[in-house]
Amino acid sequence: MTTRTVLVINSGSSSIKYQLVDPDSGASLASGLVERIGEPEGAIKHKHGEDVTELTGPVADHGAGLTEVLRLFDEKGPTLTEANIVAVGHRVVQGGKHFSGPALIDDDVVATIERLVPLGPLHNPAHLKGIEVGRKLLSDVPHVAVFDTAFFQDLPEEAARYALNREVADAYEIRRYGAHGTSHQYVSGVVADMLGRNDLKQVVLHLGNGASASAVVGAHAVETSMGLTPLEGLVMGGRTGDIDPAAVFHLTRVAGKSVDEIDHLFNRESGMKGLAGDNDMRAVWARINAGESQAREAMDIYLHRLVKYVGAYTAVMGGLEALTFTAGIGENDANLRAELCERLAYMGMRIDGEANALHSAEARIISTPESTVTVLVVPTNEELAIARQAMTLVQG
Ligand code: ADP
Repeated sequence: MTTRTVLVINSGSSSIKYQLVDPDSGASLASGLVERIGEPEGAIKHKHGEDVTELTGPVADHGAGLTEVLRLFDEKGPTLTEANIVAVGHRVVQGGKHFSGPALIDDDVVATIERLVPLGPLHNPAHLKGIEVGRKLLSDVPHVAVFDTAFFQDLPEEAARYALNREVADAYEIRRYGAHGTSHQYVSGVVADMLGRNDLKQVVLHLGNGASASAVVGAHAVETSMGLTPLEGLVMGGRTGDIDPAAVFHLTRVAGKSVDEIDHLFNRESGMKGLAGDNDMRAVWARINAGESQAREAMDIYLHRLVKYVGAYTAVMGGLEALTFTAGIGENDANLRAELCERLAYMGMRIDGEANALHSAEARIISTPESTVTVLVVPTNEELAIARQAMTLVQG
């Protein structure tokens, strides 16, 4: 089969992350990042194999950024023609109730993503910019939107609906949409393949700067920790995760804070950063090792929340067969994995210390053969998942 590739674009408000992926082999042929778009000093980094090109200088807007990226593909390789690009896959965070899978982008899909801006105010406007310039500059290939929320579209209503007044919830589309769905779907699929089972009861812990848990039965998500927005659920780098919403009333009435100030406090100044002084888990461990009691307490709060979620999801599924760690912390933090599994030992979960300590980019089992739950580390690969989802809608 001749090689074919998908250009995956993750467009942020001032950045464009991209990767050229071979959806068949899973290989990444080139990748890069345009940063600080619209600021006086922007930066572009393009990687092709060992060859890394770094440029600095102003990048006026997303159009200028992507034009420069396409020039780098031409100049530094691989040229997109040689690479046989057959589609562009765009990551879109908020698909609301409209998308339960990838969508071939046309003007109607763009209009729907635009209508969903109030539910994804930080992300969707930036994705729309990437889609607009992408369709202009790469007009001879199909563009596909892949939604972070899609995997959670078929959550049972009892999991997706809050016990909020029905009229208000429906009028304002307040429900649990989830996030990180592309990662949860990809990782749970890898686990099913590794264990040769399509009926597994599994929990996936996506622990990065943002963090979420999902409960997956077979190929279907039945619960997830992020809600209307990515604020709900686990303790994160800078986010509170679960908190009594009355804290908002209290901070408004007693501390005189505005809604925007509380939004910033809950989303950016809380979590590990607000508890331990650092949102990077490596720095938190350094503080713990230096004897900082607040850092240790923060780690305990983080672990306690995870124990609650794994326990609750096990109850929801009526059992647990596989527990998988992924993303920056999940893939790299052997200490945290060991401490969590120690707290879950009551389930009969047993970790193989050596396998857990191994540094590897490979998906692997880290539990012992006696463990009642198979524990795994599976590196997530959202770009590959987006490329593969895009291919399901594209002939090429
Ligand atoms: P996101 O995509 O949400 O920004 P990532 O999945 O890239 O996040 O994870 C980033 C986080 O991973 C960092 O903030 C850091 O806490 C954590 N991390 C990365 N490497 C390690 C490591 N070796 N040990 C512990 N934590 C790590």
